[in-house]
Amino acid sequence: MLRRGSAAPDVPLTMRAVVFHKPNEFGIDTVDVPRLVPGQVVVRVRASMICASDQKILAGKFSTLYPHIPGHEFSGEIAASESEAWPVGRRVGVEVHVGCGVCVRCREGMYTLCLNYGKRETGHAHVGFTIPGGLAQFAAVPTAALHALPDRISFEEGAWTDNLGIALWALERGRLAAGDHVIVVGSGAIGLCATQLARALGAGRVTLVGRGARLGRGRELADEAVAEADSARLEGTADLVVEFAGTAEAAREAIGMARRGGRVVLGGATGAGVELSGVDLSTIVRGNLDVLGSLANPRGASARALALLADGRVSVGALITHHYPLEAFRDAWKTFAERREGAIRVMLAP
Ligand SMILES: [Zn+2]
Ligand SMILES: [Zn+2]
Repeated sequence: MLRRGSAAPDVPLTMRAVVFHKPNEFGIDTVDVPRLVPGQVVVRVRASMICASDQKILAGKFSTLYPHIPGHEFSGEIAASESEAWPVGRRVGVEVHVGCGVCVRCREGMYTLCLNYGKRETGHAHVGFTIPGGLAQFAAVPTAALHALPDRISFEEGAWTDNLGIALWALERGRLAAGDHVIVVGSGAIGLCATQLARALGAGRVTLVGRGARLGRGRELADEAVAEADSARLEGTADLVVEFAGTAEAAREAIGMARRGGRVVLGGATGAGVELSGVDLSTIVRGNLDVLGSLANPRGASARALALLADGRVSVGALITHHYPLEAFRDAWKTFAERREGAIRVMLAP
């Protein structure tokens, strides 16, 4: 239920939403529209995508409270608000991590590392993970997670707010310098964002390493696209390697591809249970490598990425491979999960 006077008059009491009932079981259900609470707005979702993290949530690999409404890659317009800074009608993209704001890590600006992860009572929220998300007609979103969308950015583009921030942060972690040879390992959605952002940041040469139909799409975005199987020749060549594949093999290869004194940023393995073996430590020590982990997108990374998107220096249109209405979520899910027809991102319109 919405509080008095704060909602646009056309906000209904119930809505359609994707609901994960328990691990490996979901439906498209009618549920209550989230109520407006202090510190949040209610967003009318206009564009929302499916991500591999949603598959992990459905499989029960996160400490999710069921029933759960997934969705963390979305945009929309504010439908109910009591915040002067975020009025009804404002078009917004959503960043996923909201820190508690008071722990040591949050005060450093590293709210993605919040020490109060998952503790809603502290104000921490991970949209679509620990609180309900945007695979629904409406979503309650903390104002700290909102980014105003410039007029030039469509709702579909705005749904990439978080993904672009993730890719940009990894490149910033890796201190990309003008003229660098950058290798991006992983030709999924984030890898394809990183490929474009590396160019926008002034890389001299960008090589994308991946496989399948997704690598084919990357051919237009990178200076060269190399199949995983042929990547041995890249050993020791890159100033900066950014990995978004998530496997131990990819991490091993990424470390091997850095030149001596180079930098390696590992960003793919966000879930527990992937072990790295088979790396000769002297590659790192004698190579004087910087090997860094990168989690999500703190410190305004999404805002900086949106500026590049608005400027046309990055484009996400080609990465949206399929469109479905929210009611057809089951088909959309299959298309994404089975990577049909080279699916990269599947867009749902609630
Ligand atoms: Zn995601
Ligand atoms: Zn915190």
